[in-house]
Amino acid sequence: MITIALSKGRIFQETLPLLAAAGITPNEDPEKSRKLIIGTNKPDVRLIIIRATDVPTYVQHGAADLGIAGKDVLIEHGGEGLYQPLDLKIARCKMMVAAHPAFDYEQAVRQGARLRVATKYLNTAREYFSAKGVHVDLIKLYGSMELAPLVKLADVIVDLVSSGSTLKANGLVSVAEIMDISSRLVVNQASLKLKRAEIQPLLDTFELAIK
Ligand code: ATP
Ligand code: MG
Repeated sequence: MITIALSKGRIFQETLPLLAAAGITPNEDPEKSRKLIIGTNKPDVRLIIIRATDVPTYVQHGAADLGIAGKDVLIEHGGEGLYQPLDLKIARCKMMVAAHPAFDYEQAVRQGARLRVATKYLNTAREYFSAKGVHVDLIKLYGSMELAPLVKLADVIVDLVSSGSTLKANGLVSVAEIMDISSRLVVNQASLKLKRAEIQPLLDTFELAIK
């Protein structure tokens, strides 16, 4: 049995064509079903549907053989015990620093001010600002980061941006780009050794399908 860990939403939707290329069709739509384990047309392949941030954990411990997770999530997890053979180039966006236009980010950085940074991505934010020599107080949030500068919880946020419409809707602007984000295939290292005959053809098919 091969278990593939996926999150609902954009990652599931953008993974469907890759699964199809490998001849795999889920038996149910996770957006409609409440089931956490979904079978496929292949009796030896099943999907588990979990939170995006939990995908590396299930794969690391071998509860799933494969998974698909954003680079953002993998950086925060640390990638321990994971083999990361492929950038699937799906769920693409950018990790950005954003602020209210009334906050002069450039000046704050130039003057060596201590920045209050609200984010879900503590490791990414810590590394980025430390490399720039900017001192920060990190404030951990779990979502809706755009609110933080509006109610003066923070000077800036570090968040994912694709179209920019959420920033715009909340009157924020991006002030710096941290990195490009896309989703990667992650594989449990022991699974790759023990189930190579099943897993390698999947990796090969995915690699062809993304080209
Ligand atoms: P939840 O929304 O359930 O709190 P989440 O925000 O981690 O969890 P998604 O919004 O489905 O889950 O994001 C899953 C992955 O998709 C993220 O880890 C990231 O790599 C990518 N992603 C997030 N936001 C965007 C976006 N606006 N455009 C493209 N990809 C994105
Ligand atoms: Mg989200």
